[in-house]
Amino acid sequence: MGLDEDSLDYHRSDPPGKIEISTTKPTNTQRDLSLAYSPGVAAPCNEIADDAGKAYSYTAKGNLVAVVSNGSAVLGLGDIGAQASKPVMEGKGVLFKRFADIDVFDIELDQQDPDDIVRTVSAMEPTFGGVNLEDIKAPECFEIEERLREEMDIPVFHDDQHGTAIISGAALLNAAELTEKDLSDLEIVFSGAGASAIATARFYVSLGARKENITMCDSSGIITEQRVRNGEVNEFKTEFARDVPEGDLAAAMEGADVFVGLSVGGIVSQDMVRSMADNPFIFAMANPDPEIDYEDAKEARDDTVIVATGRSDYPNMVNNVLGFPFIFRGALDVRASDINEEMKVAAARALAKLAKKDVPDAVVKAYGDQPLQFGPDYIIPKPLDPRVLFEVAPAVADAAMETGVARSELDTDEYVETLEA
Ligand code: NAP
Ligand code: MG
Repeated sequence: MGLDEDSLDYHRSDPPGKIEISTTKPTNTQRDLSLAYSPGVAAPCNEIADDAGKAYSYTAKGNLVAVVSNGSAVLGLGDIGAQASKPVMEGKGVLFKRFADIDVFDIELDQQDPDDIVRTVSAMEPTFGGVNLEDIKAPECFEIEERLREEMDIPVFHDDQHGTAIISGAALLNAAELTEKDLSDLEIVFSGAGASAIATARFYVSLGARKENITMCDSSGIITEQRVRNGEVNEFKTEFARDVPEGDLAAAMEGADVFVGLSVGGIVSQDMVRSMADNPFIFAMANPDPEIDYEDAKEARDDTVIVATGRSDYPNMVNNVLGFPFIFRGALDVRASDINEEMKVAAARALAKLAKKDVPDAVVKAYGDQPLQFGPDYIIPKPLDPRVLFEVAPAVADAAMETGVARSELDTDEYVETLEA
């Protein structure tokens, strides 16, 4: 049977879907029930009414994340609507649970207007310890996330923006180390100027790249000051407009050190790779087909080309599951009010550091015994490596404490031990 048939069976086998609720306290006796609900439940209600922070002690808030979508930019499927996005959002819940033991309510909103979404999501703050926005289209996603982060006192994180930014950011740090290039010198070309590209470009600047070294292309070519003056580009693309002549992607890539593809498959040729600087990095992350195939990019030239894609059948898969479960784990465990830039940078640096450590045999086996050793074909850890949790969550928690967004403190060494237990 093909993947589609298998997946339909997987989803419809009884009970339909992939998620259920289970209870965590005894419910056997009348006494148990009068603790769980009326009249006993009044006691924790009163405690929380006096001190809202106690919701973290007496309810599931602190381990519960809302995965919120309006279905407007779902995977490669596009604007399929809120109802049709539900399997994806349940699936995101599965990944949160499997990788970081975080519970999720998936919330599919039949709303398009950012004002409506902001009002709805911010009103749900009492329920959740954090909000993962998912598959909401650009450019609305930027405004929605920004306003929610301002209004809400719990972390709000649009994974399609920051997940890719953080994980490919780890890849960028290690690729630069391997080729002895300095981040601040890298000439970086983006193909794509949507949700993930804008966020990734901003994040590379946080890591040390220079904004003036970034050239961004959309489907009409290089985003230039002239196109801004012509009124052709939105305010988010304008942020990366350059005062250069108009040109296409091929022109932009000449002499560049880094290609970052967050656009569509098959638009980069071997000649374009050959026109780049020595030892270039090709992060071709369009799904399901990269801007250029791994082999084609590698074979285009004789020097070392460091290639990452979104595909699991090649080295260096940039997969968001390396990020969001562990970033939320760390944020929730210090009751953070935000996932700020420092926490995102800490996550990227933790991933980059982990890739330089020896890989346990069990992980090597799980990936079919291919050699996994720090080098051009292993610049980011593998998603099934259990150490990702122990490295990323504490790094994020630490950064939250250092930047004053943590509402509870923890001892990092003890924390690592509890995660490992
Ligand atoms: P998006 O917001 O829809 O943005 C897509 C961008 O690609 C737009 O700016 C669009 O240009 C541009 N584009 C379309 N055709 C192009 C072409 N021929 N040449 C240059 N640019 C072109 O989508 P997104 O969420 O950022 O995702 C973009 C791609 O990255 C998708 O393939 C997605 O699967 C992939 N992605 C991969 C990962 C990963 O981890 N591997 C993570 C996130 C996203 P206009 O603005 O002119 O329309
Ligand atoms: Mg997504």
